[in-house]
Amino acid sequence: MNTPPELSRFCLHTITTKPLALPAACTAYKQVDISGITVWRDALQPLGVKASAKVLADSGLKVVSLCRGGFFPAVTAVDRRKAIDENRQVIDEAAAIGAPLIVLVCGAVPKVPLTEARKQIAEALVELAPYAADANVKLGIEPLHPMFADTRSAVNTLGQANDLAEQINSPQVGVTIDVYHVWWDDRLEAEIARAGRNKSIFSFHVCDWLSPTRDMLNDRGVMGDGCIPIRQIRAWVESAGFDGMIEVEIFSSELWQLDQMQFLHRLRTAYLEHS
Ligand code: ZN
Repeated sequence: MNTPPELSRFCLHTITTKPLALPAACTAYKQVDISGITVWRDALQPLGVKASAKVLADSGLKVVSLCRGGFFPAVTAVDRRKAIDENRQVIDEAAAIGAPLIVLVCGAVPKVPLTEARKQIAEALVELAPYAADANVKLGIEPLHPMFADTRSAVNTLGQANDLAEQINSPQVGVTIDVYHVWWDDRLEAEIARAGRNKSIFSFHVCDWLSPTRDMLNDRGVMGDGCIPIRQIRAWVESAGFDGMIEVEIFSSELWQLDQMQFLHRLRTAYLEHS
């Protein structure tokens, strides 16, 4: 069956259907006409990287990115070195599964001031960019909502991500725009345009912000169930030149409880109606 054209940019993150192992996820995604897959590293664990790469290659899905690298800042130089080495391994894994991009959750630790953490992130990216280039893998800095500034990322606005990408000034390093993290920002349209001028919009993630949000991490909503103007943000991203996959990325303890095949049908409808 040919994929309907309006679904040709529909990509799903494996974390969205966390109960499904990679082979089952690939089969199920094809059944609802999903075109692309972004693989979370935990999904590679059960089979290992090599066998997972074969599952992906045989699936007919386009591998869009590997989630995730980053977590660079640390209190000690030894731990910062460990983080860089770990990210070299993530780059190797991306190359092995044919993922052209790694999404970076850049990291933060409570005892390192945010300005210092951003310096540490920049230093790590300067070091990793040539290694990523050799592997033909790009690195997308994903700004995270400020509620994650304590432990997950010191990069909290698209403006900061653009600053960082411009500072590193490598074609390997750009930004990943996730509506969940940036929808509230009154500078968003201007910063998307700036990233577009820099040709650095590497990927685009969608889901929705539920109101009320009951859990900081695992209560993301299906597109259309919350308050994010997804279509508006997509229009800005596309007028800035982005024509890549529209990646659905939802972490939800509630949605993981559902029958995942029924959930996938619901996502397909929501994607068509609200993304
Ligand atoms: Zn994301």
